[in-house]
Amino acid sequence: MFNKKTIEDIDVQGKKVLVRVDFNVPIKDGKVGDDTRIRAALPTIQYLLDHGAAVILASHLGRPKNGPEAKFSLRPVAEYLGTLIKAPVKFAEDTIGSSAVQAAATLKPGEVLVLENTRFYPGEEKNNEELARAMASLADLYVNDAFGTAHRAHASTEGVARFLPGVAGFLMEKEIRYLGQAVASPEKPFVAILGGAKISDKIGVIRNLLAKADTILIGGGMANTFFKAQGHEMGDSLVEDTALDTAKELLEQGGKKLMLPVDMVIADKIEEGAQVKTVPVGPVPAGWKVVDIGPESRAAFAKVIADAKTVVWNGPMGVFEVPPFDEGTYALARAVADSGATSIVGGGDSVAAIQKSGLADKITHISTGGGASLEMLEGLELPGVAALQDK
Ligand code: ADP
Ligand code: MG
Repeated sequence: MFNKKTIEDIDVQGKKVLVRVDFNVPIKDGKVGDDTRIRAALPTIQYLLDHGAAVILASHLGRPKNGPEAKFSLRPVAEYLGTLIKAPVKFAEDTIGSSAVQAAATLKPGEVLVLENTRFYPGEEKNNEELARAMASLADLYVNDAFGTAHRAHASTEGVARFLPGVAGFLMEKEIRYLGQAVASPEKPFVAILGGAKISDKIGVIRNLLAKADTILIGGGMANTFFKAQGHEMGDSLVEDTALDTAKELLEQGGKKLMLPVDMVIADKIEEGAQVKTVPVGPVPAGWKVVDIGPESRAAFAKVIADAKTVVWNGPMGVFEVPPFDEGTYALARAVADSGATSIVGGGDSVAAIQKSGLADKITHISTGGGASLEMLEGLELPGVAALQDK
């Protein structure tokens, strides 16, 4: 299934190893906020250090548009990393320039060097060959552990692997194993839960999962577009009018596999203290909007989930950011936690919702990649993975 070499398949002793990590973390007032992504890269970094490598870390941070900008610097991340690991952590003020070249040249086994933000170079996102070559020249080996950007063919995620032998890190391996296995050879019954804001973001995922899953449970804003395609007026709800034809087609294609809510929570505004009603699926009055799946839907979905052996979940069932419109999402989180199924949650907001629910430790695998996890669920091969050496 996972047929790429990993860091365990190569000899890293005494080698300089360039590792693409996903250190795209929130920075506030020069300090690291949520450090989940940094911690997720530690097993790979620690393994390389323990096996005698000199470790050079490359990452992007944010979306700098015009070259170097202090607020997108990886310096605070390098400092923070120094507090998490015992090894000395150095920082280079550029990615491929003279300070990077010098720091890399003098780096010793057991030491870590963090390069400055790869996106300070416009060539990064263009997968520029010169940039990829220059990054490759800093090291002997390349490791990709940045699952969150593996769906992008950028200089540091794909181009560099043309000039250095490339293998997967532990995080990459784990992500691809769980998401790849769930889609390619799931233990059945295989149930997918899809929600979130829009159908248009996830058409590829719905199509691919229709072929693979036993049941797809639909909630969130995307259910509204299906309801409108069935002829219901949706009031002031979020509806994608441009996706109505696609929704019709998916309904026909999906048949009984596609399970829609039978009732819904509607509100006059998306705020705490709004007027709220539970209504069966049908026309939504003007001035009202659907904000969550209703209690009967939660029970019906939970019943399907209880029998599942594999559950993949992307997209919250309602506007979970605003209580009480988080109740449908939490009810399903509870159902997934109780099911005993192998469970995989992907998507930025979905992961945030699971973490808020307090049930994250009951989930088998929580993906660190939003877009990348969606592309896996679409059944696509990620360019950052394709570029690595086969076993
Ligand atoms: P993910 O990041 O997990 O892929 P999405 O970004 O697709 O998920 O969707 C998450 C967003 O969908 C949340 O901000 C949530 O408020 C919104 N959402 C869910 N249900 C509704 C709804 N009924 N109406 C409007 N927005 C909704
Ligand atoms: Mg999102």
